[in-house]
Formats: sequence, structure tokens, C-alpha cells
Amino acid sequence: MKTKKIKDKCLVAICISFLLISTGLQSNIMLKKEVPYEINYEYVNIKDMAQAKVTNKVEKVSVQEPITAPLTALLLSDKQGEKEKDKGELEEVELEENPNHQEEPPQEEPQEQQEETPPPQIWYLPTEMGHITQTPHYGHTAFDITSPRAQEETIFPVANGVISGIYKDGAGALIITILHDIDGKKYTSQYVHLSRYAKDLYVGKPVTINDALGQMGTTGVSTGVHLHLSVMDCALFDSNDPNCSNLNYFFNYSNKRVNEGYLGLSSMMIVPEEWNSR
Ligand SMILES: [Zn+2]
Repeated sequence: MKTKKIKDKCLVAICISFLLISTGLQSNIMLKKEVPYEINYEYVNIKDMAQAKVTNKVEKVSVQEPITAPLTALLLSDKQGEKEKDKGELEEVELEENPNHQEEPPQEEPQEQQEETPPPQIWYLPTEMGHITQTPHYGHTAFDITSPRAQEETIFPVANGVISGIYKDGAGALIITILHDIDGKKYTSQYVHLSRYAKDLYVGKPVTINDALGQMGTTGVSTGVHLHLSVMDCALFDSNDPNCSNLNYFFNYSNKRVNEGYLGLSSMMIVPEEWNSR
């Protein structure tokens, strides 16, 4: 009987201890459930606020919000300020990494510098803006160039050279020609239909691509304001050049060269149909 009572007591004690342990576990479970939930809830709020603040600059918010925002928001803003300081540090780290990336490009920089100093361009377009309406062919060994902005464009030499002729043709077209010496080869550029010449021009005067020759016009046989530009590989008005010692020879030689495939300026540079600057 005593053993039975002892056993009963033991069972009761075991049951009680089991109940205590189970309730304790439940309470622990409840705590584990409740506490993390509350923490998560607050954290979510802070996180949302932080995310909302990320879109705005914090410095402005920290100055303006304390006046009207509740204390909780102030506390959050202070925490966010710390977070953003951390972000700032992270950004600084990223900035420090960027120079490291820039240390690699220096190998490219010399290449860029080489690209920045290409071989000097010898031939240029004769106007700041232009539109080609006619290209060289037999009987018209020149480009006809109009102004896309409907004005008398200033005419510039297509290359550095020396003025070899300032004259009018039989129809009254104002013409100027320039002799170019490129690596010992002689070229002549001819500009026709000018409305007027620039000042202080004379035969024998050296000119550069930046020296104005005159204004685009429609003098002589012309249907409208345009530049008639011919560029040939001969020296016009040079008695030593049998192909171009006079205008008739120049005309015949130009047709001959165009038939051979020589396209004047296009034979020496890419001439776009339209351009906005030289
Ligand atoms: Zn023409």
C-alpha cells in the first residue's frame, strides 16, 4: 500500500512537474511569439520611415521636421540620421573605390590623348553650314552648296594656301581661287558666285582655313544663292603647270580629271551632304 501511495505521489508529482514545464514552455513560446512580433513591428516602422527618408535628403528633413513632428518621429529621425551617416560612410567607401577603378583607365588615357592629337586635318568644308545640291560631273566639275539657314554664308578656304586669283567671269560672277601646296602637290580651290569679297584680299596673300574670303551669293549665271566650289589637283594661273596655266586649260583639265574619277574635295575628305559646322 505504501508503495502504491508512493507511486501515486510520484505520478502526481510527475504530472504537476509536467504541467509546470508545459505551461512554462507555453509561456516561453508566447514570449517568443510576442516579443519578436513587437520588435518586428517597430522595426518595420523604422524601416519604412527610413526607406521613405532615403528618397529625400536627410539634412533638410532633420532641420524642418523637429518643429512639427512628434517626439517619436524625432527619435526616429535621429536614428535615421545615424543610419544615413552610416550610409554616408558607405558612400565614401564607394567613392574611395572609384578612384581605384580610375587607376585602371589611366592606361586608356594615354590612348585618349593620342586620339585627341590625330593627324592634322588639311581639308575643311568651305562654310560653317552647308547643303550640297550638286556634285561634280562632266561639264560641272564642282559642288554646288546652299545655306540650310537661307543666308549668305561666309566662305572660308578648304585648306591653307595662297590666293592665286580674284576675278569676274564673263557673266559677272565674283570668283576667288586659292593655290594649295600639300606635301609638294599643287591644288587649286575655286569659289564662284560670291556676293562680295572679304576685305584686304589680294593675289599672293597667304590665307588659312579661318580667313574669310567673302559671302555666298548668286552673281553671274546662277539661279539662287549658292557656292560653286571646285577643287582640282593643278595650279591655276601657274605658267609652269601646262594643265592649268589659264582658265580654259583649267576647265578642260577639270572635266578630264572628273572623267577619270577625281571628285575634287571628295577625293581628299569625306564631304557630307549636309553639315552644321566645319
Ligand atoms: Zn555650280
